[in-house]
Amino acid sequence: MAKIGHYIDGSLVAADTESTQRFGAVYNPATGEQQHELAFASSAQVSLAIEAAARAFPGWRATSLTKRADVFFKLRHLVAQHQQELAALVTSEHGKVLSDAGGEISRGLENIEFAAGLIQHLKGDYSEQVATGVDVHSVKQPVGVVGCITPFNFPVMVPLWMVCNAIACGNTVVLKPSEKDPSAALLIAELFSQAGLPAGVLNVVNGDKEAVDTILESPTVRAVSFVGSTPIARSIYQRASAAGKRVQALGGAKNHMVVLPDADLDAAADAAVSAAYGSAGERCMAVSVLVAVGGVADALSEAIQSRIAKLSIGDGTDASSEMGPLITAEHRDKVASYVHNAPAEGATVVVDGSQDAVAAQPGFFLGVSLLDHVNTEMKAYQDEIFGPVLSIVRVDSFEEAVALVNRNQYGNGVAIFTRDGGAARQFEFEIEAGMVGVNVPIPVPIGSFSFGGWKDSLFGDSHIYGPESIHFYTRSKVVTTRWPDPASSSVDLGFPSNH
Ligand code: NAD
Repeated sequence: MAKIGHYIDGSLVAADTESTQRFGAVYNPATGEQQHELAFASSAQVSLAIEAAARAFPGWRATSLTKRADVFFKLRHLVAQHQQELAALVTSEHGKVLSDAGGEISRGLENIEFAAGLIQHLKGDYSEQVATGVDVHSVKQPVGVVGCITPFNFPVMVPLWMVCNAIACGNTVVLKPSEKDPSAALLIAELFSQAGLPAGVLNVVNGDKEAVDTILESPTVRAVSFVGSTPIARSIYQRASAAGKRVQALGGAKNHMVVLPDADLDAAADAAVSAAYGSAGERCMAVSVLVAVGGVADALSEAIQSRIAKLSIGDGTDASSEMGPLITAEHRDKVASYVHNAPAEGATVVVDGSQDAVAAQPGFFLGVSLLDHVNTEMKAYQDEIFGPVLSIVRVDSFEEAVALVNRNQYGNGVAIFTRDGGAARQFEFEIEAGMVGVNVPIPVPIGSFSFGGWKDSLFGDSHIYGPESIHFYTRSKVVTTRWPDPASSSVDLGFPSNH
């Protein structure tokens, strides 16, 4: 069985030869079989990666902006060239269907394209003659070594959310991808190298908590970008900020889709099915709660059921599959438990995915489920299920819908479906979430905006990628300059004023 190692200082590094080396299993979720052994980096190996990043930092931060930009132009070409290979790696380890894997790579390319514009993003400001003969300018300088820790559900896109702009800003990076699907990150590191990135600027260490702890505890690491579940995000935020690092930690979600009575119900049903069950519901922007306002629930439920009946679930490499398996057997069983427990909580199980024939196949498959008459007291509503389960909550009014969404602990994405522009505008004004879709179910901002939720969906004050990431990955320095005429120089103990 192939052993997957790390990428440190410009080279693939095999597993440690130490007897203490720990390994994890990488599965093919479509077959349920283990396909690789993953070496879990020891603290000593992670320290080597951090040291390599620290050594590479002075050279990389001094590299001209045009040379840095050139790396991203080449990388864009290389990632596009290897899109199918990357998608195949994602499908084989994550399980999502190939077209969906290709989609995540396309969204990742947006981040490479944004980073390629680094000369524009890193421009400072200049004010002439702020006092007589005095000018002020500001520059954006890199923070140093950045730690990036990523989740299993987007093994290409989320690493690219972080590493592109961190590197574009002149930082060096230690990336710790998810231990469940680590291979794509190693290929990305190789493509960066082929694009001309010097050794040590991007390092990839595989592993678990031990690797993350080493990143958090190292004084050399100056900033941490994290994406994953809320309990881990909260803990990363607390630990990294207590250690004096900058940190942005994006957490989990419970995304609501509000459907008003005037919405086009067929379009809303198409959107709900796509956003709830795409990628088996393992998207942080998946719709998991449908808030049916003012009597649309029955018609909407029927429209959704007719679409569910036609869904094709199977191996992600089969072009006819629209949804693949879940990431692990444990996760599949946990997701199914919410459906099994729903009647005892008082909800109606309209479609039970655990009874779907696909659930009996080898691999981590589960059919899609639809719950109705769900309320906010139920576990199925409160928890982030992160699987193909859609809950319908019925409310009477727009105001009730807004209040319900705003009471939820998460605030990642939210959508409203309506033909009423005034209602949509009021929704946008009042709703407490970081990303809002108007007749768009998964409003993931394009690469030139920033991505991030509110409340327990993000710890820290910077959203990820786009303009906010340039701010996050740089420190600003303001320089005040005077070229005095020696003839007019004199001692003045007063506080400098702008005259
Ligand atoms: P996870 O929190 O289990 O793992 C994320 C990363 O943290 C992995 O690299 C993992 O190895 C590491 N990790 C896990 N436990 C740790 C611990 N105790 N100490 C230190 N590090 C630890 O998340 P996941 O299951 O890989 O991903 C799914 C979650 O990520 C969902 O909650 C989803 O909503 C969230 N997510 C959020 C966004 C967003 O942008 N807000 C995007 C994608 C995924």
